[in-house]
Amino acid sequence: METQVQLVFHNNGLRSYIEVDLCARCPRQDDKGCCGFYSPVFYATDLVYLLHNQPDLLDEIFAMDCITVLDASVTINQQPDGDSYRCRFHSREGGCRLPQHLRESVCRHFVCPDIGWENNAGLQKWKEFFEKLADYEIQLNNGAAEYVKAQGLTLRNPADRQQVIKAMEEYLHQQTQTRPAFFEEMPSQETAVVTCELRFGKEWTL
Ligand code: SF4
Ligand code: SF4
Repeated sequence: METQVQLVFHNNGLRSYIEVDLCARCPRQDDKGCCGFYSPVFYATDLVYLLHNQPDLLDEIFAMDCITVLDASVTINQQPDGDSYRCRFHSREGGCRLPQHLRESVCRHFVCPDIGWENNAGLQKWKEFFEKLADYEIQLNNGAAEYVKAQGLTLRNPADRQQVIKAMEEYLHQQTQTRPAFFEEMPSQETAVVTCELRFGKEWTL
């Protein structure tokens, strides 16, 4: 059985994301889809964005009892749920409670492979855009982690946390003065419709 899936690509620089209308009728049919198998990880680019745009969420994350804090990242560990897991931001009724711009990178970019949009000839520019964006974010986040480490700071120490995120902010501000060329190559938004073969339950690949 085939279905049409609408994807909306948003080019918002470092906060770009992909909307997928199939998520509301996810073929996994378990009310959690890919969010049952992932623990979001917030790195420097996300932490600094939250500082500027949703500081209360930053406070909430660091107050959670299910987090793994490393020197320059924080993971919100999934919770057991039935025969798999569930992300702590996910509810059976309403899905992810975070708007897309507040989510970390994987959650903003991920589209399950069975939708197959990356094989669509007309969408190759978007595929390249999100590949370049992922590389760019990794480069910035690694650089920010080194910058923090060089100052003897770590997120593992609760007393350092404000200072660490301020140092990350300083580093990212320096490094993002020039926007990368690929940000300018795509429109701010584009909608596409692709056709894919539906399979249900665990037959649908994550
Ligand atoms: S598995 Fe695919 S369709 Fe289901 S929620 Fe995840 S991205 Fe959406
Ligand atoms: S943060 Fe949202 S999108 Fe990401 S895994 Fe959790 S519920 Fe899913």
